Amino acid sequence: MTSKKHWPANHYIELEDRHGAHNYHPLPVVLARGQGVHVWDVAGKRYLDFLSAYSAVNQGHCHPKIIQALVEQAQTLCLTSRAFYNNTLGVYEKYLADYFGYPRALPVNTGAEAVETALKLARRWGYVKKNIPDNEALIVVCEGNFHGRTISIVSMSNDPDAYTQFGPFTPGFINIPYNDTAALAHTLEAQGTRIAGFLVEPVQGEAGVVIPDSGYLKTCYELCRQHHVLFIADEVQTGIARTGRLLCCDYEQVHPDILILGKALSGGVLPVSAVLADDEVMLTIRPGEHGSTFGGFPLACKVAMAALDVVRDEQLAERADYMGLILRKELGKIRSPLIRAIRGKGLLNAIVIAPTNGKEAWDVCLKMADNGLLAKPTHRHIIRLAPPLVITEEQLHEAVDIIKHAVDSSSRP
Ligand SMILES: *Cc1c(COP(=O)(O)O)cnc(C)c1O
Repeated sequence: MTSKKHWPANHYIELEDRHGAHNYHPLPVVLARGQGVHVWDVAGKRYLDFLSAYSAVNQGHCHPKIIQALVEQAQTLCLTSRAFYNNTLGVYEKYLADYFGYPRALPVNTGAEAVETALKLARRWGYVKKNIPDNEALIVVCEGNFHGRTISIVSMSNDPDAYTQFGPFTPGFINIPYNDTAALAHTLEAQGTRIAGFLVEPVQGEAGVVIPDSGYLKTCYELCRQHHVLFIADEVQTGIARTGRLLCCDYEQVHPDILILGKALSGGVLPVSAVLADDEVMLTIRPGEHGSTFGGFPLACKVAMAALDVVRDEQLAERADYMGLILRKELGKIRSPLIRAIRGKGLLNAIVIAPTNGKEAWDVCLKMADNGLLAKPTHRHIIRLAPPLVITEEQLHEAVDIIKHAVDSSSRP
C-alpha cells in the first residue's frame, strides 16, 4: 500500500463543519483507509473498527473478492435503469431466492427505501388480498424502533430526535411496546381486520441492542398468522450473519412474510438493499407502481452476490456466534462502576454505561479511540460493539484489553 500525504485531521473536520449539514456528531477521528477489521486515520494511526458502519461492513473493509466483483462489473456495465432487461438482475434475484428461501426479491438501495417498499407491499396486500377498505390499512410497529429517516418512517418513531418538527406525519401506524406479545395480541384482537402488517426488528440495534425474550418472534409470528397479518422483519442491521445466524429470525425458525435486508448486503461497498417475499405479496405491485432508478443495477447485483458468497464461504454466521460468546465472556470479567450491563447476540453487542464521576459513554469512546478502537455511543449511555465478522480471536482479545483500559482510566476521578 503506497503511503499518501494527507492534511492534518483538523483540516477535514473544519471542512465538514463549515460546508456540511450538521446532521451527525462524529468522534474526532478522520479515516483514510480500511482493510479487514482495521481502519487507519489521516496520520496513519490504526484502529480496530467496532462499529463496522452500523453493521454494513460485516465482511470486513475492502474485502478483495467483493472489490474484484466491483471493479470487473464497473468496467463492464454499471447502470441500465429498469427500462430494459440486463444480464445480471435476474441472475441476482435467483441467487437471492436460493440463498434466503424466498421466491421473489425487489431490489432497492438504502435500508429506509427497503422499509418504505415493505410498507407499500403490506398496504397493497391488505387492500388486494385482505379486503381492507381503501386508505384504512394499519401497520403495527414497536416502541424504540429504528427503520430509517424518511417522513413516513419517522412517523412510526417515538424518539423525539427523529420526529420533532418533521410533521405532519404519515397516519396508519400503531405503536405498541417492544417485547410484549400481550400488547400485540390485544391490538390484533381489537383492530386486526384493518391491520395489514406487523413490522419488527428481531433485535433493536439503534435503540441500544435491545434483545427480546426468546420465543418473542415466534409468538408474534403465530399471532400474525392467526389474524391474517403479514409478519415483516427489518433485518437491515441484524441480518446477514451479524447476530450469529444468517438471519436473526433463524434463531426461532421464523420465516417472515416480508424480509427487509440492507447494509451488509453489499459488504459496505455500495448502498444495496432488498425486500424479499412470496408471490402472494410481491405480485400485488404491478408495472409502473413502484421503483427506483438505481434499484438492482448491475454493479449492485454483482457486488451483492460477491458479498453473500463471502458470508457463506467464510462461515461468518458461525464466526459471529462463536466470537460473540468470547467477547461477552471476556467483557463480563471487567469489574468497573462504569459498566451497568453487557448484552448481545453474535457480534451485535453493547455495554450499558452507568455515568461515574461525570464520565459518560462518550468519554469512554474517546479513550478507546486514543487506544486504537472505534465505537460510538447510541442513546447516550450505550456503547455498541459490532466489529467486522472476520475478526480473529487474537484481535478480539486485543480489543477487550483496549476496552478494559478505557473503562478503567475513565472511572478514575
Ligand atoms: C440502518 C437501518 C435502517 C436504515 O438504513 P439506511 O440504509 O440508513 O436507510 C433501517 N432499519 C434498521 C434496523 C437499520 O439498522
